[in-house]
Amino acid sequence: MADETLRETIAERLALGLKTEVWPRAETSADVNAIVRRLQVEAKDDLDKKLIIAGFTDHVIVAEGLEQPCETCMYYQVHARFCDLPELMLPVEPNWSCRLWRI
Ligand code: SF4
Repeated sequence: MADETLRETIAERLALGLKTEVWPRAETSADVNAIVRRLQVEAKDDLDKKLIIAGFTDHVIVAEGLEQPCETCMYYQVHARFCDLPELMLPVEPNWSCRLWRI
């Protein structure tokens, strides 16, 4: 699926109210590792499971006083509007967010 189509598909899923695991955010390396492991074992290539486990939202989440949009995340590729976290590898929008956000 082309990135633009897939981005629209994800936007639609989120707009329709897909319940994702927004909280708790991944605050420690152990938290990150646990979520990444679940993505590897449970989600694999299943789009909905990726969105759910990573806690995707179509708006910015503020955690511990920090805004966590994709656009400031270390995994965000600005020009492609793409998340290159290996377990996600998904087109995103700059104002989306997930709980694996990292600076
Ligand atoms: S890891 Fe970063 S770029 Fe990827 S979806 Fe989460 S917040 Fe967005």
